Amino acid sequence: MRARPSESRRFGHYPTPVQRIVRLSRDDAELWVKRDDLTHPVYGGNKVRKLEVLFDALGTLPGARIATLGAVGSHHVLATTYFGSKVGLSVEAVLFPQPRTDHVVDVLRADLALGLRAFAAPSPTVAVLGLLGRAFTGAAIVPPGASSVTGAMGYVAAARELAAQVRAGTMPEPDLCVVALGSGGTAAGLAAGFAAERMKTRVVGVCILQPAWAAAAVARWLARGCARRLGISPGLIAGRLLVDTGFVGGGYGCTSPEAEDAIRIAASDADLTLDPTYTGKAFACALHRLRPPRAGRVLYWHTLSSAPLAPFLALAPPLEAVRSSLRQLLTRPREFIE
Ligand SMILES: *Cc1c(COP(=O)(O)O)cnc(C)c1O
Repeated sequence: MRARPSESRRFGHYPTPVQRIVRLSRDDAELWVKRDDLTHPVYGGNKVRKLEVLFDALGTLPGARIATLGAVGSHHVLATTYFGSKVGLSVEAVLFPQPRTDHVVDVLRADLALGLRAFAAPSPTVAVLGLLGRAFTGAAIVPPGASSVTGAMGYVAAARELAAQVRAGTMPEPDLCVVALGSGGTAAGLAAGFAAERMKTRVVGVCILQPAWAAAAVARWLARGCARRLGISPGLIAGRLLVDTGFVGGGYGCTSPEAEDAIRIAASDADLTLDPTYTGKAFACALHRLRPPRAGRVLYWHTLSSAPLAPFLALAPPLEAVRSSLRQLLTRPREFIE
């Protein structure tokens, strides 16, 4: 019997663990973590769940070309390159500037080691035009951040996975689920999935890019799309997806004092490695939501791969050998103000 499409390309290893962070919990305020950093041993994080459904829906055959876009240190581009080449696709991406950090440089080098065909664009807007150009040459398009309604359905499945863990007694039902919000598919899928499971859990999407209102609108639109696919009323989603724009700082890729504090606290008290672009800001929000006099149970959904990039980097060109058009995408933080 032929495997159902939804089962034929399960890249991830599920369920991912949930854990109580003892040192950051009080009697009346608990902090838990969902370890989606562990979705895959070679490259984990939140893009895995979205890409496995998207690749199925694309129905591309080995040898086909796919194209996407992202910042020069985009986890989405790296995940698309890794999982795309794993299933025999040839992967192209249009990349736009991002403040330079060691991590951003590592991601770019890992992309190139995996055979990504990279094109440089001076801004996100020009990158969109570049992506249309790739579509014109016949490449199948993977949406930015893998966040179409289809991609977000990967996080509906993730919400169902958590619901099963709650039913099994692995963790009590959370009041809030705090997660970084970029292209929006993760927060949207979770909100729709919790609604479908009739959980009380509300999602707080922590905006990490500007304009924050646009990111919030996209996330809400994706959540309504997921609700329609699930056959539940989009009205049920409305109050479930809160968007917190208070942690965006200087914008995408720019760290903030709150994120730096959160990164330190996560390392010392939760044994978690965070990044300044996404998870530092989301964890800062989770800590904020637990500060007295607030009470309740917060689940921080960890979206950053914790697999080491070293195996890719061992095969990667040194930065000096990377094409200068790509190297120029690594900006200094204060130059990246849109
Ligand atoms: C892409 C990414 C996100 C954002 O997820 P969206 O579904 O795009 O909102 C959050 N955290 C990390 C580490 C990511 O790489």
